[in-house]
Amino acid sequence: AVLAPAGKSGDMSVRELRRACGAADASWCVDKKELRGVFRIAGGVCRAGECQSRLEGSCTKTLSCGHPCGGVRGEATCLPCLRCAPPGDAGATREGKRPPPTADDPCAICYVDPMGAAPAILLGCGHVVHRRCAIDKIRAGWPGPAISFNHLRCPLCGASGGEAEEVGSRQFPAMRHGSLDEEIQPVLALRDAVMRRGRRRLLAEGNVA
Ligand SMILES: [Zn+2]
Ligand SMILES: [Zn+2]
Ligand SMILES: [Zn+2]
Ligand SMILES: [Zn+2]
Repeated sequence: AVLAPAGKSGDMSVRELRRACGAADASWCVDKKELRGVFRIAGGVCRAGECQSRLEGSCTKTLSCGHPCGGVRGEATCLPCLRCAPPGDAGATREGKRPPPTADDPCAICYVDPMGAAPAILLGCGHVVHRRCAIDKIRAGWPGPAISFNHLRCPLCGASGGEAEEVGSRQFPAMRHGSLDEEIQPVLALRDAVMRRGRRRLLAEGNVA
């Protein structure tokens, strides 16, 4: 796809616009205005393969504040804006709750790229991390020879002492997001199997009443 300068998009047909959006997700667009928005975002992205594949995984919607969404492709609900202060009392932190990170804050998993540099997800716990980093963390598995499942935890919850883990319980504070299900469900299933086996062994040895 050849990208025309953004100013020229007014003359382009819907079909031309769709083609010019390239790797960017234009599937959700229902009118030309939305297509032009995607075209604008796509046109601002570097042509390098890495940047284009990042674009491919990105939500291409423009938020009501006018900023591009920092979320992931196909998300049902857009990520809260990483560039605008959260609605309500700006800057004020509710007790025990940190505001979402800004686009310039480092990702709590990679500490390399700022939040705004790659598609990010809002986890069930309320923390925001890069989707790619969350998936890499899940795939990396447990660190040592002994099976453990702490790598499934949100690094920010872990750091703030959210230790609600109960053996075999559904309350285990894993990173929760619809787009991680495919990666994390098999590991959670393995965890449950390990817990069941461990419990059976304890029962057999008479260590559990
Ligand atoms: Zn979005
Ligand atoms: Zn905004
Ligand atoms: Zn990251
Ligand atoms: Zn968290």
